[in-house]
Amino acid sequence: MTERISTEQEPDLGYIDENYKYIKERVDAAAVKSGRTPADVRLMAVTKTVAPYIINRAIACGARLIGENKVQELLGKLDDLRTEGLEMHIIGHLQSNKVKKIITTVAMIQSVDSLSLAQEISRRAVESGVVMDVLTEVNIGCEWSKTGFACEELTERSLEIDALPGVNVRGFMAIPPVCETEAEARGYFARVRGLFEDAKPRFGKADFDTLSMGMSADYEAAILEGATLVRVGSALFGRRRY
Ligand SMILES: *Cc1c(COP(=O)(O)O)cnc(C)c1O
Repeated sequence: MTERISTEQEPDLGYIDENYKYIKERVDAAAVKSGRTPADVRLMAVTKTVAPYIINRAIACGARLIGENKVQELLGKLDDLRTEGLEMHIIGHLQSNKVKKIITTVAMIQSVDSLSLAQEISRRAVESGVVMDVLTEVNIGCEWSKTGFACEELTERSLEIDALPGVNVRGFMAIPPVCETEAEARGYFARVRGLFEDAKPRFGKADFDTLSMGMSADYEAAILEGATLVRVGSALFGRRRY
């Protein structure tokens, strides 16, 4: 008689492997379809509400870029994450008093939505002797409920922010309104792309190169409209409970 080995302690995370492979293939295919190469589009795993052991499974699958919305949550998970070779970004609205805590931990803050936040990032970056890469967030749907710069002021504000010491604006980030159709979503993505292309010569630097848009429901559409970084949470990890 053979002894049965209990697997109760190790829940089956095979679904993460399958999801990651599936999403990566679709991202790569969309990159090619958009006239670029897979290397031109980065896949971010959005890990909010996800436990470290599950995030580590995604890392084992090849995820190298993760995004968190909340500073406290990210810091709380750090000790349990396989962080070697891992790049972490803040993607949610950031309170100025939290900047100090993550200034040497994250590689990028994608959600710079005010000049005062950028000034605080600048102050802390200089103090720590680092240069922080940031994206400025555009409120592309002009929604009152969302943070971010209005389209009309995005480029001017971003140039002001880029001129601050210790801050390097790498591009734009957008969360378009919830759309009924893919065509509607693509319209928003195309508008963000237009703002990005128009801003490029104003910045006149090679590393103004990042356009972060597209989530679980619409990352392929975003890539077809020029996204260089897509932020995927629920399609990879499953539905969140809030
Ligand atoms: C949660 C979140 C995502 C991921 O959303 P999904 O629909 O689960 O893929 C992407 N970007 C931001 C800013 C988020 O807060």
